[in-house]
This record gives sequence, C-alpha cells and structure tokens, in this order.
Amino acid sequence: MPLSDRRVASTDPLTVEESDAPRAAAPARKKAKADEKPKPVVKTADKLAKLGLKSDIDLALHLPMRYEDETSLTPVGELIPGDIAQTEGVVFDNEIAYRPRRQLLVKIHDAAGDELTLRFLNFYGSQVKQMAIGVRLRVRGDVRGGFFGLEMVHPAVRPVDDDTPLPQALTPVYPSTAGISQAYLRKAIDSALARVSLPELLPEPIARAHLAPLNVPGLLDAVKTLHHPRADSDETALIDGTHPAWTRIKFEELLAQQLSLKRAHEERRRRAAPAMPRRSPNDDQSLVARLLKALPFALTGAQQRVGAEIAAELTLAHPMQRLLQGDVGSGKTIVAALAAAQAIDAGYQAALMAPTEILAEQHARKLRGWLEPLGVTVAWLAGSIKAKEKRAALEAAALGTAQLVIGTHAIIQDAVEFARLGLVIVDEQHRFGVAQRLALRAKALNAADGAHDFQPHQLMMSATPIPRTLAMTYYADLDVSTIDELPPGRTPILTKIVSDGRRDEIIGRVREAALTGRQVYWVCPLIEESETLQLQTAVETYETLVGALPELRVGLVHGRLAPAEKAAVMDAFARNEVQLLVATTVIEVGVDVPNASLMVIEHAERFGLAQLHQLRGRVGRGSTASVCVLMYANPLSQTARARLQTMRETTDGFEIARRDLEIRGPGEFLGARQSGEAMLRFASLENDGWLIEPARAAADAMLSSFPDAVTRHLARWLGAREHYLKA
Ligand code: ADP
Ligand code: MG
Repeated sequence: MPLSDRRVASTDPLTVEESDAPRAAAPARKKAKADEKPKPVVKTADKLAKLGLKSDIDLALHLPMRYEDETSLTPVGELIPGDIAQTEGVVFDNEIAYRPRRQLLVKIHDAAGDELTLRFLNFYGSQVKQMAIGVRLRVRGDVRGGFFGLEMVHPAVRPVDDDTPLPQALTPVYPSTAGISQAYLRKAIDSALARVSLPELLPEPIARAHLAPLNVPGLLDAVKTLHHPRADSDETALIDGTHPAWTRIKFEELLAQQLSLKRAHEERRRRAAPAMPRRSPNDDQSLVARLLKALPFALTGAQQRVGAEIAAELTLAHPMQRLLQGDVGSGKTIVAALAAAQAIDAGYQAALMAPTEILAEQHARKLRGWLEPLGVTVAWLAGSIKAKEKRAALEAAALGTAQLVIGTHAIIQDAVEFARLGLVIVDEQHRFGVAQRLALRAKALNAADGAHDFQPHQLMMSATPIPRTLAMTYYADLDVSTIDELPPGRTPILTKIVSDGRRDEIIGRVREAALTGRQVYWVCPLIEESETLQLQTAVETYETLVGALPELRVGLVHGRLAPAEKAAVMDAFARNEVQLLVATTVIEVGVDVPNASLMVIEHAERFGLAQLHQLRGRVGRGSTASVCVLMYANPLSQTARARLQTMRETTDGFEIARRDLEIRGPGEFLGARQSGEAMLRFASLENDGWLIEPARAAADAMLSSFPDAVTRHLARWLGAREHYLKA
C-alpha cells in the first residue's frame, strides 16, 4: 500500500476536522509543544488495520457515515446562530489571548465588511502562522452568537485564493479513529478507488431475480457515488440513506448477513448430536408418556404442536438449534420438561440454565415436582451453593447419575463436566448475550471431547416475542417454535393506571384482597442509578407496608438476600404463608404463584415495556380475575405515558413487543447483543427492514446453487466479523 507515514506527518493541520482536531485543552498544549520537536512516527497503517482497512477493497467499502455540504458559501452577514455553515473572509486580526484562558482568536471579514471571530481553545503553533493577517480563509462550523458578535469555535479552516473553486459535490465524512485524519482517509480511499475493480459477485441469475427489481446501480457505480456524490445527486437521499446507491450496499450487506447466519446454521446442522428416539406413548417405560399422564392439566394445542416439532428434531442425529418463543405464562416450562424427558429416555443428560437464581430455583422446584416421583435424579447447581453440595452436584453430573442438572450460568462457568450431555435448555435466552452463547457452546464442546464426539441439542426459550423481521435478522441461525396460545381458564388481567397520590386507597385494596384469600405482589421502584438506593427503598417500602397492614403476613425479597433466605421467602409465598410479597424486579422473570392475583407496581413510569409485561405476567396465572395497578408519579414523560397506555390497552406480548420496538428501536429493544446485529455496518433494522426479505430470498437461492459465490461474498463483506456467529 503506497501510504507512507511521511504523508501523515505532513498532513496540514488546518484541514483537520473530526478525529484529529485537538479538543481537550491539556493534551493540546502538550501537542503544541511537541509540534516544535520532530514528530513521532505514527503507525498509520496499523491504525488503518485496526479500522479493518487492510486491502483496497476494504478501503473502497469504507463508506461515509455522513456528508458535509461544502458546495456553497453563506455571506457572514447571513449566518444564523445554531446553523452549521461555510463562509469565507480575509483575516484582519490574529491574537493569542490569555484571559479568561489561553486561546487563539482570529477575526475575518468578508466583502460586505461583516465580521466573524474564529476561536481556538487548542491550537498548533503552525495554525497561528497559517491564519496570518491578510490570508483568505474558507471556514466551516457551528455558528454561535458570542459576546462580541458572531463566532465559530474550532471551525474547519482552509486558506484559499479568491478564485478557489467550491466542491461540486458533498464531502464524505468517514468513520475514523484517533490519529487518522479525514484528509488522510480521503486520500487513502481515493487512491484505493482508483486501483480497485470491485467486480460484481452476484451470479447473473441471482442478480436478475433478486436485485433487478430493486432498481439499484451496479456495485462499483454505487460505491463511487457514495464516496463522491455527483453534483446532481439527490443529497437528501444520500444523507438519510435512501439513495439507490445506499440500497445497493445495504442489500449486499444484508445478503452477507443472511448467508452467514444460514451457513453457520447449516454447518452446525452437519455436526453430530445424539439421536433421541421417541418412545411409543403406550410404552410404560417411557418417561415422556409417564410425565404426560401425571400432569394435572392437558397440554394446549400450541404446546402439543411445538412439543411435536421439538420431539421430532431431537430424534435426528444433528444438533437442534431452536428458539422456543411464547408469551409470559404460555407454558414453556412443561415443553422443556418433555424435551428433557425425551433426552433422559434415550439415556442422555439434560441441563437447564436460567439467568437468575430465583428463576433457576423455581424451575428446580417445578421440575423436581414433576420428574422425581417418576424416578429421575435432578441436581442443582448455582454460584451460591455450599462447597460440599457443589462437589456432590459436580460429581453427579460427571458420573451421569444426575439425569437433569438445573442451575444458573454456574453451569457454564464452573468446571462442570457431563458424562453424556445430550440437551441444553436455556431459559429467558435473551438475557444471555452472544458471549454466553459462545461459552455455552464451548461447554458443549468440552462435554464432547474424549469419549463421544457429539454436541448437545440446544433449546433456547424466550418470553420476549420478537417481530418477524427482527427474528429473521437476529436469529436467522435458529429455528423458531412459537406458542401462540395461553392455557385455558386464565382470566384476563385488568390493568389500572393510578397516580401515587392514591396510595392509601391502593393499600386499602391490598388489605381487602389479602383478607379474601388472594395473594399480592408489591413491586418496588426501580432505581437504575444506584443499587444501594434501590435496596434501601425496598426495605423502606416493606417497613411502611408492614406498619400499614398489621393484619397481613408480609415478606420481602430482593437481589441482595442470601440465596437461602430468598428461597425461604419465595417458598413461604408459594405456600400462601406470606400474603403480601414486597419485591424488587428479582421477581420479574418466571416466578409462578398462581394464587397471586393482585400486583401493585410503584413508579411504573420508570420501567420499560418488556419489564412491565414480564412483571405483570406474575399475576393472571390462576382462575381468579387479576388486577395490575401501575402507580405513577408526575411528571410523566411522553414515552412513559405511551408505555403505560400500551400496558392498559393490551396484554398480548407480541403487540407489546411491536409497540416497544416502535418506541425504542431494535438496538435497545433486544438488550444483549445478538449475533445478527454485530455484522451490520450500513443497514439498520429501523429503516431497512423491508430489504431483509429480498436479501433472504437471494441468500437461499445463492446457497443452493452458487456455493463459491457465497464464500467470495462473505469474505468481501464480513471478513473478521463472522466470528460472532460461532455461538
Ligand atoms: P412461561 O411460558 O411463562 O414459562 P410457565 O411454564 O411458567 O409459563 O407456565 C405458567 C403456568 O401455567 C404454570 O403454572 C404452569 O404449570 C401452567 N400451565 C402450563 N401449561 C398448562 C396447561 N396446558 N394447562 C393449564 N396450566 C398450564
Ligand atoms: Mg418461564
């Protein structure tokens, strides 16, 4: 690459903007001094490499994140404070002031005689010289109304002649990193563009069927347009990313993402996993059959359907990678238990991992209740258990005497070894990010080393239903089963929005409900900034309620309780020995006490929609009509109001997820980063969701007919990013 360090060193500091503009006072002064000494050699090629820019193609595909409009000049007299503008004038004053702090003040005036001050709080010695009196400057920056008239602080500055032409096109601004100037990047990219040929990689039939309908330019044409928009291009469309040239690039990228997810999926499918044949429902020895017979309820149609999908896939000798989605309370646990039973029937071990200890404990209690009477050995593994118990659990897992191991992510962290791990179940999988999925797979591979070379089936469960386009991009590497029906006999939850001015009235309702045999959750305010404060609030709330409701047995559960205490409180609540449970969000996931039918959420305006939905899902699980009171404090922001209204209007998790996505956008919506997202640089799910379907169709066609083109396309667009998929 003909990019020498010398060229960086000689980069004119006057043309710098973005990453290399000296901003902070102290380092800049140091820099100004360093200026007089010989410059340190900057390893720019290394920095480029850090940006992932190693080849000409990388550089050509390093597209602008935005543009600056330098195509016109605004006369100084027409500058408006608050705008970003470009203007030109001749320096008539240049001084370094020391009060109130050291700064360079340069004043220019234009032909009309209007004056503008340029203020530099940090500056190089050379800048002072280059903005000498009499020099004509073209400046661009934020216009401010200063004390002494109009000014720009740290504008981009360029000395010009009075006939220096204006650029005919928008100026690209590239994503960069400290130490690489825009000027340098532009030069590097332009010279790469001059060399690169960037051949089309899409096979002709694919392009004809999937690209042509989009009406977009050829790849090289699109890339060139984006780096150097022609003067006549639609600037708005370039800036907001809807220009056909952008569409072309986003399509390529989404295609790469879909190809990559699907190929990762296929590769995993080709690995070996234990086949777990289904026993006949009449087989007396079948654990699955005995479990079904022992259940106090009949499965819903939806549970039967997803159960059959999972059961069928477990019979195959390739690892299942399945996401089981189902709204809060839809009954995912029994589906997981049946899958575990099938694994155990086939002579393998199953592991169930949950994100919190409360939830894991509850699963342990529930699954023990179902499976131990049928002779299954269940082990419990969490970070907090005593060393002796832990040793026993580890041994039982390693020897294979534990047929089912339930726990928190202690299951993946500890030196847990399984004798014959055949199925891994992850509950509330969206709480785990890509990193944990990686760890889980590593665990799975550990389990596979030595005696058997298979990897376990994986069943991920989530109560955060995600809209279809999101599922396609974030989980294109998973198969999805959805429970779309709640067990019968549930009475709908009535949601009320009440100002906290009516607290006493609410406490009265709690008393009434508890005295008629119902159980109540009181959820304490979320205090995101401080866990300590949150804890304190929970304790205070508890004390207030104990004082106000002396006739009730009140319990308190929060994240800082020792696990044994936590379990004791939850047990007491489950056995109806505690009537009012004051809780922090530790009860958010999975807690299941059907007799609880009233929930009060304090400061509901502080919670997110998904969280409110999860919390509310703790009631409405039994046959009594349930009520959820969302108590709020004023002032209520627009979005908080929108969230509360959504909660009042619907209990449908899919609808809530859809609105949540609308309010927040996909990045925040999903929380922990998922594999699909990390790959996207240009396309965004908010704006480009419509392109996913065409990209997916093209990916399918390409995978089945043009495997070589797939490999080339992935190398070009993803490079190193693909490792996110190994989860
Ligand atoms: P989630 O999908 O939120 O994990 P759970 O598995 O905890 O839901 O189930 C919620 C409640 O519904 C539990 O008490 C469970 O025993 C009960 N349940 C599950 N399936 C059925 C069914 N088919 N009929 C009646 N109750 C059911
Ligand atoms: Mg659950």
